[in-house]
Amino acid sequence: MHTTVGVIGGGPAGLLLARLLHNAGIDCVLLESRDRAYVEGRQRAGILEQGTVDVLRECGAGARMDREGLVHDGIELRFDRRSHRIDFPSLTSGRRVMVYAQTEVVKDLIAAQLDNGGPLLFEAKAEAVTGVDTGQPMIHFTHEGRDQTLTCDYVVGCDGFHGVARSAVPGGVLTTYERTYPYSWLGILADVPPSCDELVYAHSSRGFALHSMRSPTVSRLYLQVPNGTDPADWADEHVWDELDARFAVDSSWKLERGPITAKAVLPMRSFVAEPMRYGRLFLAGDAAHIVPPTGAKGLNLAVSDVVVLANAFAHLRTTGSAELLDAFSATCLRRVWRAEHFSYFMTTTLHTDPRQSPFDTRLQISQLDRITTSTAAAAELAENYVGPPIV
Ligand SMILES: Cc1cc2nc3c(=O)[nH]c(=O)nc-3n(C[C@H](O)[C@H](O)[C@H](O)COP(=O)(O)OP(=O)(O)OC[C@H]3O[C@@H](n4cnc5c(N)ncnc54)[C@H](O)[C@@H]3O)c2cc1C
Repeated sequence: MHTTVGVIGGGPAGLLLARLLHNAGIDCVLLESRDRAYVEGRQRAGILEQGTVDVLRECGAGARMDREGLVHDGIELRFDRRSHRIDFPSLTSGRRVMVYAQTEVVKDLIAAQLDNGGPLLFEAKAEAVTGVDTGQPMIHFTHEGRDQTLTCDYVVGCDGFHGVARSAVPGGVLTTYERTYPYSWLGILADVPPSCDELVYAHSSRGFALHSMRSPTVSRLYLQVPNGTDPADWADEHVWDELDARFAVDSSWKLERGPITAKAVLPMRSFVAEPMRYGRLFLAGDAAHIVPPTGAKGLNLAVSDVVVLANAFAHLRTTGSAELLDAFSATCLRRVWRAEHFSYFMTTTLHTDPRQSPFDTRLQISQLDRITTSTAAAAELAENYVGPPIV
């Protein structure tokens, strides 16, 4: 089997890349190691930047998002038992975000691909990528119990942090940057209407909490917990009591409780591997970089990477010039590092490091006070949150 672009990984990055290449008339084959139900049910991100929303609309996968997604014009910051709203449109010349779960983005892209796109093979696990510094790289994969080989003009690793593509780059080529954090998130899904109109980010002496949502009837909430926490140790009532304590404000606001349908612990990591290209192998999305979820950037970075890459492949096809492919890594890394910084900033400003001193806590409160009383500081947060336009 041969294709122009072999894509490993059917998460948001791989699926969107396949759609964009299809729209540009470039053939590709997409290999996904898991089955369709698993990929469509995997609970992850839920906030789409304005640029991501625009891309999904333009590529023809935005109709259900526009019907069912929730447009949000801001977020709430809570600290010292008080609420403060950050209004995005007034601070960013009209930009806003959309709440639409990653599961739904993935379902929409899979449906489009199966309807009129190129081959999308589920339960097709890439075992190795070879020949990336030759003219014809190969993906060796297993599918339907058989070992198979896909020869390609180019290979794109969209296979997440634990995928195989990054390991095809010879030692010494990639520089990696990494930070781990001394806390994790316990995330729950609950069948209860959200208790707020917009996301609430709460700083408290008990640790961070986030109130998000997936739909008008499903809430998504997170608690900062120690690394190594077993979700089974958190009974449902314990989770709600702790959320209540961390969101507490001096007003009549009430956290509505409901049946918890999912509970999982998510570790936090910052990671960048650069460059994002070696020979004919490109890395995109979580395969190249990870951010802690506090800034809501992971999914959005995956989208911006593959938009840059698809444009570069289209440019090659129409002009014969590889200049945009050659610029891919540098173009993406500029945005990646901005998102890395913002995600780090949100994480360290809002969480309680178990080693932090009262002095550190006062600095956090001072920073939050600054954001909520200075238009310039609020605009800095808002611009980063809604994201810059995708080039
Ligand atoms: C548990 C969790 C919760 C998260 N929550 C948030 C959040 O609240 N907000 C936020 O902004 N971000 C969040 N993120 C990050 C966000 O979901 C990711 O940044 C986003 O999924 C990146 O998309 P991707 O396509 O690059 O990678 P992925 O979504 O990881 O997709 C990679 C795909 O490659 C497949 N694959 C892996 N290896 C192979 C192989 N060898 N062969 C074939 N296929 C392979 C995988 O099965 C997967 O489908 C979360 C991430 C995790 C892990």
